[in-house]
Amino acid sequence: MAESMTLENKVALITGGSRGIGRAIALEFAARGASVVVNYHTASQAADEVVQKIKDTHGKASAYQADVSDLKQAEGLVKFTVDTFGDLQILINNAGITRDQLIMLMPESDWDAVITTNLKSTFNCSKAAVKHMIRKRYGRIINIASVAGQMGNPGQTNYSASKGGQIAFTKSLAREVAGRKITVNAIAPGFIDTEILDAMQPETLEAALKLVPLARKGKPEEVAYAAAFLASDQAAFITGQVLGVDGGMAMM
Ligand code: NDP
Repeated sequence: MAESMTLENKVALITGGSRGIGRAIALEFAARGASVVVNYHTASQAADEVVQKIKDTHGKASAYQADVSDLKQAEGLVKFTVDTFGDLQILINNAGITRDQLIMLMPESDWDAVITTNLKSTFNCSKAAVKHMIRKRYGRIINIASVAGQMGNPGQTNYSASKGGQIAFTKSLAREVAGRKITVNAIAPGFIDTEILDAMQPETLEAALKLVPLARKGKPEEVAYAAAFLASDQAAFITGQVLGVDGGMAMM
């Protein structure tokens, strides 16, 4: 029998760890023994609440404000992680936004905001983290993509492009750093019950749920369990993959 999937003695940085899926990952990783940096952009109270919840159960966590779409701030976030906990083994590129609109009506600023927040942030944080991981010859990078990046979705050309970009980025970086024992994988969640879905029209969501064989929304914790597996030592031979957590929606 394999050892339990512990994250003892690991340091994990979770971008957008203050709410939704990132929050669930932060709590799950801390429960498995990891020291966790909870990055946030604007919601300091939510980030502090996650940190407090972890500390209440004798875990180690710290919050850090950074806009990860900015390279300098992403570098500052990685430096904070290493300075605070002495290492960085696990990076979860989770921060993301939507700005849904049909292409003819989509302002250029909404294209730019989604691409920089979802995709450029993945480059920014990975670039900063890989410098550290290469020296240590160990690392786990997990990019939270989306079924939209695999299947496409009307009204989401910006979001789908950012998520498809994350998937292609995952495969290229996995090949680039495999020799240094760093794995890079993506998770493609389907509809997960977080505030990001609030921006969807209820009828659009209802129609979309009809495409889900398991016929329900997922829970943030269900994404966190998948992330915990990919972050564990038991997943050492898995790299460049996209793991669907989508109730069977995409089946690539
Ligand atoms: P939420 O809206 O619940 O949370 C988003 C998180 O990202 C918040 O912590 C937010 O911080 C943070 N964030 C946003 N912009 C930035 C930024 N520039 N810098 C740092 N942090 C930022 O979203 P979800 O939990 O639902 O989504 C998490 C990820 O999962 C996203 O990448 C999303 O695309 C992906 N996903 C979600 C699905 C779903 O159905 N929920 C489906 C498929 C993929 P703050 O509050 O401080 O702004």
